[in-house]
Amino acid sequence: MKCIILIAAPAAGKGTISKYIEDKYNYKHISTGDLLREEVRKNTVIGKEIKPLLEKGSLVGDDIIKEVFEKEFRKTKSNIILDGIPRTLNQAKMLDSLDNNDGNVEITNVINIDIDKEVAINRIENRLICESCGSVYNKSIITDDKCTKCGGNLSSRNDDTKETFLERYETFLKQTKPLLKYYGDKVITIYNNTSLEDVYESVDKILKGDE
Ligand code: ADP
Repeated sequence: MKCIILIAAPAAGKGTISKYIEDKYNYKHISTGDLLREEVRKNTVIGKEIKPLLEKGSLVGDDIIKEVFEKEFRKTKSNIILDGIPRTLNQAKMLDSLDNNDGNVEITNVINIDIDKEVAINRIENRLICESCGSVYNKSIITDDKCTKCGGNLSSRNDDTKETFLERYETFLKQTKPLLKYYGDKVITIYNNTSLEDVYESVDKILKGDE
């Protein structure tokens, strides 16, 4: 099983790029943020515990992440793209020790999506997400209040405020960005300050041969 890891600051485009890779290259998109928000929505035991952390923009503990992630991971046999995990060194080591029924998980690429902080803040403040399929939209350019892919409702995430963004950004710099060193040669950096077309072109170059 091939595994692509995305490492990026909040609002850098992990979700959008994951969806692109999922649709075009048939990877399964696993987003720990989505899985955690689902726990909160369903008001599970885990959901109740993590709700304040998500609202503040702090990281959820590694044990809960492992539990929530592995439950989803065990359901899949296809190649995977990881959005939002690992965020700590412990989580990176946990991924190194994963295997699935068909053999080991091979981390083929680590894509670092780089973005200017000001651009990210602007995106956060304008971001709308489809409640059904997770597609991402920008308030300033949508023409309809429904998702064009599945018809789902669009809404802002509770943690998409400037204040929470700044907290999440600091957490990223302190705890997650250092993982780029951990992955060394596997890391490829893409800049996502301009158009999505350019970003998709860079992704295509990385995944050439995987179609
Ligand atoms: P973003 O990257 O835009 O901050 P995500 O949807 O990836 O958004 O994550 C939202 C929140 O979920 C994070 O701020 C954090 O509280 C929590 N979270 C998601 N993934 C992890 C993880 N791997 N480890 C710890 N906390 C996580």
